[in-house]
Amino acid sequence: MITTHNLGFPRIGKRRELKFALEKYWRGESSLQELEETATALRQRHWQYQQKLDWLPVGDFSLYDHVLDTSLLVGNLPSRTDSRLAETDQYFQAARGQSSKQLQQTPIAAAEMTKWFDTNYHYLVPEFNAETRFELDAERLLTQFREARAEGHQAKPVLLGPVSYLWLGKAKDNSNKLALLDDLLPVYEQCLLSLAAEGADWVQIDEPVLATELDQDWQHALSQAYFALNKTPLRLLLTSYFAPLGENLHLACELPTAGLHIDTINGREEVIKVVDWLPAHKTLSLGVINGRNIWKSDLNGLLDWLEPIYKRLGKRLWLAPSCSLLHVPVDLEQETELDSDIKNWLAFAVQKLDELNLLALALNHGRDGVKAELTANARAIQSRRDSAKVHKAAVQQRLQAVTSDWGQRHSPYPERRRLQRSRYPLPLFPTTTIGSFPQTTTIRQSRLQYRRGDLDEATYHRAMQQQIEYAIAEQEKVGLDVLVHGEAERNDMVEYFGEQLDGYTFTRFGWVQSYGSRCVKPPVIFGDIERPKAMTVDWIAYAQSLTDKPVKGMLTGPVTMLNWSFVRDDQPREQTCLQLALAIRDEVLDLEQQGVRIIQIDEAALREGLPLRRSGWKQYLDWAVNCFRISANGVQDETQIHTHMCYSEFNDIIESIAAMDADVITIETSRSDMELLDVFNAFDYPNEIGPGVYDIHSPNIPAVAQIRELMEKAAERIPPERLWVNPDCGLKTRQWSEVKPALEAMVQAAGALRQNAAA
Ligand code: GLN
Ligand code: ZN
Repeated sequence: MITTHNLGFPRIGKRRELKFALEKYWRGESSLQELEETATALRQRHWQYQQKLDWLPVGDFSLYDHVLDTSLLVGNLPSRTDSRLAETDQYFQAARGQSSKQLQQTPIAAAEMTKWFDTNYHYLVPEFNAETRFELDAERLLTQFREARAEGHQAKPVLLGPVSYLWLGKAKDNSNKLALLDDLLPVYEQCLLSLAAEGADWVQIDEPVLATELDQDWQHALSQAYFALNKTPLRLLLTSYFAPLGENLHLACELPTAGLHIDTINGREEVIKVVDWLPAHKTLSLGVINGRNIWKSDLNGLLDWLEPIYKRLGKRLWLAPSCSLLHVPVDLEQETELDSDIKNWLAFAVQKLDELNLLALALNHGRDGVKAELTANARAIQSRRDSAKVHKAAVQQRLQAVTSDWGQRHSPYPERRRLQRSRYPLPLFPTTTIGSFPQTTTIRQSRLQYRRGDLDEATYHRAMQQQIEYAIAEQEKVGLDVLVHGEAERNDMVEYFGEQLDGYTFTRFGWVQSYGSRCVKPPVIFGDIERPKAMTVDWIAYAQSLTDKPVKGMLTGPVTMLNWSFVRDDQPREQTCLQLALAIRDEVLDLEQQGVRIIQIDEAALREGLPLRRSGWKQYLDWAVNCFRISANGVQDETQIHTHMCYSEFNDIIESIAAMDADVITIETSRSDMELLDVFNAFDYPNEIGPGVYDIHSPNIPAVAQIRELMEKAAERIPPERLWVNPDCGLKTRQWSEVKPALEAMVQAAGALRQNAAA
């Protein structure tokens, strides 16, 4: 018999119950016990969903983040947290920090947060130093294990492996993290022993570092770890996901564990090699259902592929999703408003587990036993393949027509600059903002009422125009040089455009955890992308009609649209991105036609699409940059293209950034004290840059002198004629009472810089 299991289930709940319970607790409106009750109920419900599987994950649930849970498990919460607090409160303190207001003493900084591999999930970075020592605190895990067993489930504890745990953390004193492995391994050993004592058999031990390029030291660490952990009586399932094993394949096969899980959605071509290499006593778990996407699997196709493998491996073969289902929404059944064809092409976490069960049934007892289900699946797959909702001849034809000159500006930057400056004579150190202004309660209420149908189109339109009037007036008062309309009409920078494009659809409950209680609801790209009509022109033109200063048009770029959506899996991502690029290109040209001569195309998420292995970077960057260029570069020389990115870790991709050939790029820099601009010492960035001069995440008003200093630092690396002055990012999360003085300070600092330059 084949064995089925799951690597992890979304924790947040199908109605985001965990989110609401957490936030209620943090507001002080419920007790810890109430929070724990919600958590217990969610775990039980989630195990119910999974009960047809042979092995259910335990320990995948988390109140905030599974990496922080691991820090708790090995006794490594940051030492600055208040040890007098209950353990859970200390844990939340590590996750969220505590301001001085709350404590009436020194504030406690939250642990740093960063992206979990190439997903949009964020984990809390473990902190180490040379003195770090570990100590087991397995009570939570053991309790949950008992809970699952008491419910009658066959439970498989899930642990983040010791090597990945170290790899994901940061040595605050720059000491060598790997030196801590010797102290960490006994804690893992103890943990496994306590699980064994509770009756555990298989333990899933995640080492996602196997999907990255590891140097010899890290490879060696894996050997050391698993030779040590092999001594415990449990069976370990070494688990890798997100990318092929690549050069780590032999290592992964040969580490002394009872089994190996691999992601075959990303690395199907490796399976045969793994089957050949894996010692004959080992279990092989194949991740065959995509844990990162929301499309139905082609079950018949999978069976064609799996049947011979099953013949060869027999009961050594296990089946699972490719990775934890953390990255997909919970239950498609709730989506009562989705187009029924599209709904029939989708599978969320619950449906993915059904698919897994069907595969197992077909392999164990033959396809005939599940004939009806397989036929229904085949029909759904076929209907998607043939659907006119998905495939649009016009889009395909247009794609064929794209040639390389579509991504090419007419003249090189210096010539463009001359023309642009004669169109809009801007001062030295021109000032601008990144696009959004505060999303006030009034704005959000208008939008909500409009969505609910309580506000008619005309009234809503007028309300948004009034917001634009306010934003323009305030910017003129402050004295900014290039204005924006303020983005009041946008709920979200991707959703706003997705809603106006054909080929996009939206779910009601398709939430995915981003971090802690925060969730995102990525839109779904199901078909060829078309722009039925202009999306932003009215708003920008209205803003421009109110002022003599230039107003910057504001768009989201194709790569960011792609990286923040669920993307179709029936064509390469690059192809979908190109379709998005054409839609944005049309918008850019419409704006230009309307006299908007400064246009910003945000690519906040460009970096997020980088493949896990560096060897894949160039290919991604080439098509991503090409798509940006196609969206932006159809304009005349006079039209100034801006782009914006919410980070400035550019060192490793600076050439691609330059290759985008935007006239101006604005980036986040203030938090690093402009150090991030060091890259420009070595690389002569050819165009204009606006290094963000203040952190928009903080309510603090920046001092004029501070902004001046930052800009002076920037001017050491980039010629002043090519510098802009702007905040780090959009201002939508701030209040006008913060924005006004902050922008005033910025404008004053720019004035001082100009005077200085003239002197
Ligand atoms: N134009 C967007 C804004 O100002 C950019 C947001 C972003 O970069 N994340 O809100
Ligand atoms: Zn930004």
